[in-house]
Order: sequence, then C-alpha cells, then structure tokens
Amino acid sequence: GTTTFTMIKPEAVEAGHIGNILQMINEAGFRIVALKKTQLNKDQAGEFYAVHKERPFYGELVDYMCSGPIVAAILEKDNAVADFRELIGATDPSEAAEGTIRKKYATSKAENAVHGSDSDENAQIEGSFFFSRFEKF
Ligand code: ATP
Repeated sequence: GTTTFTMIKPEAVEAGHIGNILQMINEAGFRIVALKKTQLNKDQAGEFYAVHKERPFYGELVDYMCSGPIVAAILEKDNAVADFRELIGATDPSEAAEGTIRKKYATSKAENAVHGSDSDENAQIEGSFFFSRFEKF
C-alpha cells in the first residue's frame, strides 16, 4: 500500500489520547510502519513547518509544536494520504465531520490533535524527517 505521515500533537498527548487515537487509526485500516514518542525543539519544528513560514500563524504553530512531546508515525494503507485526511477531518474542529479524530479530540484550529500529510511527496519528506530506513517495518 501507499504511506502517509502523522503526528499526535502536544495537547492530545498531554490529554492522554495517544491510545484512543492509535486505536481509531488501526480500526480505519491503517498499518503502523514506524512509531515514536519524541519532542521537537524550535529549530526542528521550524524546519518541519517551513512551508508555512509566511503564514501569520507560523510562530504560534512552531511554539505550540515544541511545547510538549508528540507521537510521530508512518502509516500504510491503499490511498493512505487521502483516506487519512478523511479520518482526521477538517483543520478547524468545529467544521470536522462526526466520527473524525479532530471532531473527537481537537480543541481548536491551532490545537487540532493530529497532523496528516497533504501529498504522497510530503508524506515521504515528513516520514524521512523523523525515521531512518532502519526504523520502518
Ligand atoms: P496539518 O498540515 O497539520 O495536517 P492542515 O493541512 O489541516 O493541518 P494547514 O492549513 O496546513 O492545516 O495548517 C497547518 C497547521 O497549522 C494546522 O494543523 C494547525 O495546527 C495550524 N493552523 C492552521 N491554521 C491556523 C490558524 N488560523 N491559527 C493557528 N494555527 C493554525
């Protein structure tokens, strides 16, 4: 199958939702290829979100993403990128559909529980940012 990359963001880790979110991911048919809990420093978060450098929320986003531990994972499934974005729901939880991860666990547009890659190319770049080829099975 194809792969996508996800992070469980700091507020969802802090709130104790790692297990429930991984369960939703498994039940939706994704296989976990790689998984780790880690914490980004400011340089790493800035590099990961460099595509958003010109957006007004960039500074806030970088500070938030290094405010506590996150869980990073590579997930495999047919049509992984699009199917995972459907599973997580809209960026703003007030617009997220019933049954999505963000509907259940996101607390705001900024603190929205999970990340999901937006293209196959970015899924590869983002997965390689966190995992070596010896960490993918
Ligand atoms: P992601 O790339 O994390 O899956 P997305 O594609 O749904 O999210 P983007 O528009 O790419 O959303 O924004 C990236 C991240 O920046 C969002 O997930 C959110 O954490 C944060 N963000 C987006 N818009 C805002 C905003 N208006 N204010 C604060 N933070 C925001």
